[in-house]
Amino acid sequence: MVKPFVPQLVYVEPKALNYPLGKELMTKFENMGIEIRETTSHNQIRNLPGENDFQKYRIAKSTLVVGIRKTLKFDTSKPSAEYAIPFATGCMGHCHYCYLQTTMGSKPYIRTYVNIDDIFEAAEDYMKERAPEPTRFEASCTSDIVGVDHLTHTLKKAIEFFGESDYGQLRFVTKFAHVDHLLDAKHNHKTRFRFSINDDYVIKYFEPGTSRLNERIEAATKIANAGYPLGFIIAPIYLHEGWKNGYKIMLEKLEEQLPRSATKDLTFEMIQHRFTKPAKRVIEKNYPMTKLELDESKRKLKWGPYGIYKYVYTDPEQEEIKDTLSRYIQTYFPEAKIEYFT
Ligand code: SF4
Repeated sequence: MVKPFVPQLVYVEPKALNYPLGKELMTKFENMGIEIRETTSHNQIRNLPGENDFQKYRIAKSTLVVGIRKTLKFDTSKPSAEYAIPFATGCMGHCHYCYLQTTMGSKPYIRTYVNIDDIFEAAEDYMKERAPEPTRFEASCTSDIVGVDHLTHTLKKAIEFFGESDYGQLRFVTKFAHVDHLLDAKHNHKTRFRFSINDDYVIKYFEPGTSRLNERIEAATKIANAGYPLGFIIAPIYLHEGWKNGYKIMLEKLEEQLPRSATKDLTFEMIQHRFTKPAKRVIEKNYPMTKLELDESKRKLKWGPYGIYKYVYTDPEQEEIKDTLSRYIQTYFPEAKIEYFT
């Protein structure tokens, strides 16, 4: 069982101490006996402990930077939402395939932003622009926000902020089961709480440092019982020997354990495994023993929105994945909505 994340080392930007959450977090970490260092900006962090890149990477992934979010222009976040809302970046998990390895490059530490009222104000402006159309905000584009939220409660505040809004909706996805503090949040059904799930093979070999499938299902059950709209992202869908049976068992378990009430308003998103050439280089450096199959010759090239080619499964494989998983979902959850396959 993966324990709730506790940073090994904390950095604080001095300006963060002007905010109540910044002060609160410092007191908390002092009381926990965690080493705290000051840094004028996260960009100045150069002397992370560790004797080689491999160690430094692992220590960075358990380092938390308490700072300010300066850019309040939100990125778009298709297809699951209109905007990405930035409460944190980085993740303590060690999923071999994780895209954050490439996007965060040499700065894989976790950052949490304490100027949350500024972020809420910016969200308010985005909602006004689109009103009376609803605006969906995705909170997990650059982190697994739930993984750090038992420490910060930022997400809890966001759930309640959107709960009170007229046109805002919040969504995020997690591979962590530490959700107890979110059960009494006044979500007002405006937050869709999603869990990323996968079959046993993928979780066992490629998702170290995250909650196991049964823990995620247990957490999803608590979330459903707390009345949140629930969803599952099956990602990355990865072809391996016995994959059809693996995904079937995964959905069977889900059906057995979820309360009936959760299956009425349930969504599924399906994302196939993909990689880019730069990602492959980083994965091979950070996880040299990985079994992850990254053979370009077996894949189809697809032009990505970030100006770089990605390698996805071939068309017949994609069809097979889509058909097989859609069929399972419709069998076990006939009332659920499949939002997309990509
Ligand atoms: Fe990346 Fe999500 Fe795994 Fe964290 S839990 S390492 S964000 S894939």
